[in-house]
Amino acid sequence: MIVEVTENLAVWRVAVRSPLPQLFDYLPPLGEDSESPQPGTRVLIPFGRRKLIGLVVETAQESFLPTHQLKHAFAVLETCPSLSAHLMRLATWCSDYYHFPLGEVLQTMLPGHLRHAKPPGAKQVAWRLTELGRNSLTVKMRSQKQQGCLAWLGEQRALVTTQQVQEQGFSSAILRILLVKGLVEKDCVQRQDDIGEMPPLVDVVTSQPHTLNDAQAKAVAAITGANGYETFLLDGVTGSGKTLVYLHAIEQCLAQQGQVLVLVPEIGLTPQTITRFQAHLRVPIGVWHSHMTDAERYRTWQQAKSGKLQVVIGTRSAVFCDMPKLAMIIIDEAHDPSFKQQSSLRYLANDVARVRAHDFGIPVVLGSATPPLSLLIAGKYPIHRLRLKERAGVALKPAWSLIDLRGLPVKSGLSEPLLAKMASHLAAGHQVLVFLNQRGYSPALICHQCGEAATCQRCDAKMTLHEHPKRLLCHHCGAHQRDHHRCQSCGSVDLFAAGVGTGRLEQALRQHFPKVSLLRIDRDSVRKKGTLDKMLSDIHSNQYKLLVGTQMLAKGHDFPNLTMVAVVNMDDAFFSADFHAIERLGALMVQVAGRAGRADKPGEVVVQTHQPQHPLLQLLVQNGYHAFAEALLQERKALGLPPYGYMALIRASSPNPDYPLQVLQALVKQTPNTTGVKCVGPLASPMARRAGQYRVQLLIWTDVRKQRHQYLLNARAFLQRLPLAKKVRWSIDVDPIDMQ
Ligand code: ADP
Ligand code: ZN
Ligand code: ZN
Repeated sequence: MIVEVTENLAVWRVAVRSPLPQLFDYLPPLGEDSESPQPGTRVLIPFGRRKLIGLVVETAQESFLPTHQLKHAFAVLETCPSLSAHLMRLATWCSDYYHFPLGEVLQTMLPGHLRHAKPPGAKQVAWRLTELGRNSLTVKMRSQKQQGCLAWLGEQRALVTTQQVQEQGFSSAILRILLVKGLVEKDCVQRQDDIGEMPPLVDVVTSQPHTLNDAQAKAVAAITGANGYETFLLDGVTGSGKTLVYLHAIEQCLAQQGQVLVLVPEIGLTPQTITRFQAHLRVPIGVWHSHMTDAERYRTWQQAKSGKLQVVIGTRSAVFCDMPKLAMIIIDEAHDPSFKQQSSLRYLANDVARVRAHDFGIPVVLGSATPPLSLLIAGKYPIHRLRLKERAGVALKPAWSLIDLRGLPVKSGLSEPLLAKMASHLAAGHQVLVFLNQRGYSPALICHQCGEAATCQRCDAKMTLHEHPKRLLCHHCGAHQRDHHRCQSCGSVDLFAAGVGTGRLEQALRQHFPKVSLLRIDRDSVRKKGTLDKMLSDIHSNQYKLLVGTQMLAKGHDFPNLTMVAVVNMDDAFFSADFHAIERLGALMVQVAGRAGRADKPGEVVVQTHQPQHPLLQLLVQNGYHAFAEALLQERKALGLPPYGYMALIRASSPNPDYPLQVLQALVKQTPNTTGVKCVGPLASPMARRAGQYRVQLLIWTDVRKQRHQYLLNARAFLQRLPLAKKVRWSIDVDPIDMQ
């Protein structure tokens, strides 16, 4: 290899969005003698025949390429780097740990606005009157609209954007007519959303702020007393008042001018949450979630970066939000699966947050009533556990009971004893939540003649029957089918819906309790009936007595009048091939149960099951989550499963049925008995075909983390070279939580 070292050669090593892991070398723009940009600066570069945005990772005086082969960058896009040195280090860690190209990691971190070649300071069209227009202000026009628009423009002292004009009720067609008449002219202004103003501080009437109880006060003292980096597990039962602990700890950070990042699950980011934080902290709160526009997210990013926002609350990807004075990170409901990204950069926000906190030398607080097993054992960094064992205020823990379904008559998933219990809670004027983690009318449509179930054409999966509109829907690829009156196999019209989804449950409950107001909450009903927030506030104001829902209802919501939770069916997890399923089941059951009896009325949780003797279910019901988790941990330890062992999944998929298997077989052949590494597979994924792609996976399993890392490094290098691997989509999932 040639290494050219020239005294005053400046080479920029640039990360580009590309599946290739390496950096690319560029020379400064032609004719520019500017200083080398700092790492994290965005530059515009030629890449093949395209113009791309890249990020300077480092500058050097040499290149492996001869100088004449180096291209010049087009331009430096900013004077101040978009990504701070801290975020650049975090990116390197992510790239390394998750085995994902640095260029792609960096692009994931950047807010969408900064990823496009059009810089955020882009101009937009704006309008003003011409001389002629100004002189025509007093002339009467035939069109009132045009006259109105002209008059309004005449009153504006600055240029106004098309959008501002439209907001006044004048269409762009009117502007065009005025333009043709020579009364107005176009110009350009800086985009408004980049220099947006702070959102107003909502003035909410606050209920008297609670004083901390003893357990809460101890937790706050421990967190605020942290000396540099420390991970706290705020292990508090549902309703124990974890939020108040966060709020008091945040207050302390704010008092010292620090910034705080709060991560919440996708479903937990409701206006109520924001209002609660804002009311207590009395500072503007920045919000960050995936349903915001790029411009909105960019605004939060900028204001956080400039220090204008001291608190940002967001979902998973907010973990990358730039906050130069970061003083603490909080992750609420740290067990929630939405903290793991399941595509592209497959990161777990909890782990990224811990690395970030370590780099900053600040505390990170993970709160949960059902801590993930990985937080219950001592890992590389010690975890400081803070317990809140009792519910705050007057609320008591709910009482659990099981209904043994074996031999009992069941109609639409509901047994008599369950209906009787519900009736008594409803008669007392309380709310009842019926939980079923299966949306749709029924999970299978079966032929009474040949026994075949309706399956998706593109996936190895059954189609779910939905009503309103009546159709078959694949929950894995979104395919739907309106014509569902005939069996796909034998053509018979003798079909029946097997199994129960929330739609069918709703129908059955409406028949059984015709006078009780009922609300169904799942992804379908939320899409149809407006927002989840509205539904939640309607539940709060007691408009509905009977709530039917999926896990959307399980999380964090506080319904004071709800006294009973009925779990219709969770037995599936006992039969799952994925060892994570049972951990998730336990967490979900405890979370759902936690909705019962949050105020002064005692709560009751009733679970229907065909497995009443199952030891783990018994432990959960009799002794609670921690006993359950302890038993699971022992099992995992004996088997060397995570968190005691280390896993990664290498997945490959393709529309071709053979390539994925061939690629992974070649990989295994290439890496025979690597020390300490067990390779399980390659095997067809549990769902062998999804959305038309054939899927194969290889499980990597080691006792030592480093060995996994080393194996994956080699595997990645091998796959990058293998020609056949270009014909499949392959990915590496480090610490997978879903083996599907
Ligand atoms: P968690 O997040 O731990 O499930 P929350 O933070 O939602 O619990 O609090 C549960 C309920 O207890 C809320 O209604 C809250 O206002 C109340 N609460 C919290 N702390 C106290 C306290 N110290 N005294 C009285 N009530 C409290
Ligand atoms: Zn049939
Ligand atoms: Zn499908």
